[in-house]
Amino acid sequence: MNYILLKNCRELLTVEENAKDLIGLNKNISLLIEDAKIKKIGAYEKLKEEILSRTFQEIDCSNKVVMPGYVDCHTHLIFGESRVDEYVASFTMNKEEIKNKIPRTGLEASIFSTRNSTDEELINSSLVKLNRMLKHGTTTVEIKSGYGIDKDTELRLLKLINILKEKAPQTILSTYLGAHYFDTEMGKEKYIDFMIKEVMPIIKKENLAQFCDIWCDEGYYDANDCYKVLKAGLENNMLPTLHTECYSAIGGAKVAAELKAANVGHLNYISLEDIELLKEANVVGVLIPTTDFSVKHKKPFDPKPMLDKKMTIAIATNLNPGNWVEDMEISMILACRNHKMTENEAIRAATLGGAKALRIDKDYGSLEVGKFADIQIRNSDSYKNVVYKFGVNEVEHVIKRGKIIF
Ligand SMILES: [Zn+2]
Repeated sequence: MNYILLKNCRELLTVEENAKDLIGLNKNISLLIEDAKIKKIGAYEKLKEEILSRTFQEIDCSNKVVMPGYVDCHTHLIFGESRVDEYVASFTMNKEEIKNKIPRTGLEASIFSTRNSTDEELINSSLVKLNRMLKHGTTTVEIKSGYGIDKDTELRLLKLINILKEKAPQTILSTYLGAHYFDTEMGKEKYIDFMIKEVMPIIKKENLAQFCDIWCDEGYYDANDCYKVLKAGLENNMLPTLHTECYSAIGGAKVAAELKAANVGHLNYISLEDIELLKEANVVGVLIPTTDFSVKHKKPFDPKPMLDKKMTIAIATNLNPGNWVEDMEISMILACRNHKMTENEAIRAATLGGAKALRIDKDYGSLEVGKFADIQIRNSDSYKNVVYKFGVNEVEHVIKRGKIIF
């Protein structure tokens, strides 16, 4: 057995389910790791008695903040080229002017460059991002396909995500997002049939994705389409998730509640009635403050009614070529300042909330006995610095499943 003892943590956040302050703040307490899991939390002398004559590694945490690794439950991190020119042009130009300057933009540009990237390029660029995310404390990441649309590229992306699961230090979960857009030559109706009949059975057979996602919005997929696609996803062993109520409200949240989706992202246009339905159905709301910031959203999401109704919420980066954010703390900083969340709400949403959104909270998302030891140790005098110090990385060590990997 391997033991690591985190001695006398200045601040330890357990973020346990029933924490009254949402984050389970403890001071001057120790944590014992046995192999991959958390064995005990308590007074230093007591924990030392546990492992009496055995060898163990000890880290003095008297000047450190110890908390769960971040769970980034919504990313599109596998893609071809960056869209930096389009992004910087958007500072001063409107859509029309950008189109005249840059022939291929948006989703179309990302689909083109992703299709034309080699496996090696996609794996290497993804690993670079994942390693940087790890250094910022992110220990679990969800990754979506969706920049392929055609069968070959979508399946290739999902297979590459499976390779990332082996190569990257984080726990990774994968999502089939064929319904990010559709094949314009085929048309939407035929494309839905194609996803259901030709792509999903292969995903099921080869175990390529845990979730099935869809973009529910005007001009994309409506509520009926969502129901059809996500129901088929369920039949092929994929839990439903949605991008919905981002730029319009066309019924995606109701479908999410009906199908008991794992999570729904964006929610700028969510109604009070839908919040009730999502809460009842145990669907986690994934809030993405960086996207509201990047696109200068005219209707920023409002977490207050969701929190008032005790709906579970998560915060994610939504890392993608139009919103290149790897550091969860950027999302948390914006969630607090722009959307009036408290620091404790933001921390809970970025850890346990993310784990709930991915339905892995039995094992991840908080520091509790029996859960995996996914821990960040910060050289810090206050946990509140996570939403205070811009661009300052206080993460000193990251422990993943009981192993110090950074
Ligand atoms: Zn997204």
